[in-house]
Amino acid sequence: MKRYFLKAPFFIKFIVVNSYGFILRQKRYNKQFYQYLDQYKRNDKTEVFSFDFKALKKQIKENKFYVENDKTIEKYPIINKQIIKEHYDEIINKKEVHGYLHTSGTTGSGLKYPISKEFINHQWAIFWKFRNLHGITLDTWCANIISQTLFSVEQNRPPYWIKSYPTRQLLLSQYHIRKDTVKLYLDAIHKNRIIWLHAFPSVLNLLANLIKDAGLLSEAKALHLKIITTSSEKLFDHQKKNIEDVFDCKVREFYGQVEGVANMFECEKGTLHIDESYSYVELVPTDNIDECKIVGTSYHNKSFPLVRYDTGDTCILYPNEFTCKCGRKSRVVKEILGRDDDYLLLTNGTKIGRISSIFKSLWAVKEAQIIQDKVGSAEFRIVKDATYSYQDEEKLKEQIKERLGNDFEFEIIYPDHIERTKSGKLKFVINKVNKNNDK
Ligand SMILES: [Zn+2]
Repeated sequence: MKRYFLKAPFFIKFIVVNSYGFILRQKRYNKQFYQYLDQYKRNDKTEVFSFDFKALKKQIKENKFYVENDKTIEKYPIINKQIIKEHYDEIINKKEVHGYLHTSGTTGSGLKYPISKEFINHQWAIFWKFRNLHGITLDTWCANIISQTLFSVEQNRPPYWIKSYPTRQLLLSQYHIRKDTVKLYLDAIHKNRIIWLHAFPSVLNLLANLIKDAGLLSEAKALHLKIITTSSEKLFDHQKKNIEDVFDCKVREFYGQVEGVANMFECEKGTLHIDESYSYVELVPTDNIDECKIVGTSYHNKSFPLVRYDTGDTCILYPNEFTCKCGRKSRVVKEILGRDDDYLLLTNGTKIGRISSIFKSLWAVKEAQIIQDKVGSAEFRIVKDATYSYQDEEKLKEQIKERLGNDFEFEIIYPDHIERTKSGKLKFVINKVNKNNDK
């Protein structure tokens, strides 16, 4: 199917994308959706951290995997992707399956995740609660730079985008953004008078860098974007700053995962809040003092209920006395750190996480990736910008030594670009020794 699509002429693609968009719109935005959206918006300012036992009971009723009679959630063990894969047939409730979502998994552990009908409506309602509070409505057109393949890699003539009228999106291919096409992308967004841009942080950062290199800053600002949203990848500070500077527009972050067990959104004041009524989110302490695992229980997926599911992501908390000026009563999170397997291993067995801090204040680094093949050493891949100098390299070396110690062996290499994963993401740390050491 995909192969035929890629070979098809543009007008056929246009028809396919718009027909599919029509179906998606029907599925996502039905009566239930509007009801849930209303509910979430009403609860937004008052919801607090609480456990809805009734909601959980409904999910796990007659489920073969969970024991229903435990009233305290702490009696359930924390599970992860590996465990749910092993017990897939016990957890699934085939009567309730309405479709499947695919999780890619960073270590190649993909999963076909069953979803119920109400799951889809709840998930879209919670997305739109976030968008509504930043002034985006269902009528707002979105320039959405997507990781799905719309055109073959060899295509070297525009258009690199397709307009989807039912979903009100200008779908732009992330794989065709290059030095010689960047202006075409800006023109397409400008011609369609779109004021909302959405993409992975790494894609927006790449776009921002190409705009700077091509001297198109005034064109970027002339788009008069009102909002830029990101999801699906960690948003690094340097990326946020870069993107906001280039487009002269705020970047707002949304955190969620395919499994839908924990959602967080950035409020008007720029603080990340937990969507407390969407699911039950636990922030479980780790060995690092202020760092927590994000563990969640879904209230809305009878077809594959997840109770105390470890998302594999971690976050940092604010000091206790912090309250957000927006007035919401929900819990807040200072920063989402991303995957907990983003660490490097020292020879003495220590795991060092939060490695991104090495790159703080190194503004001449466009993109970075760290690859660890063996314990105690790693390769740092850096895509430099034009201003990157000898001093930057010295500073980087210093910061690596400071974080990882003097015995840590490393090599810095400077490729022109960094390979993306199959799902189009930029993986910051690739640790090839993880598995062997975890066992
Ligand atoms: Zn707030």
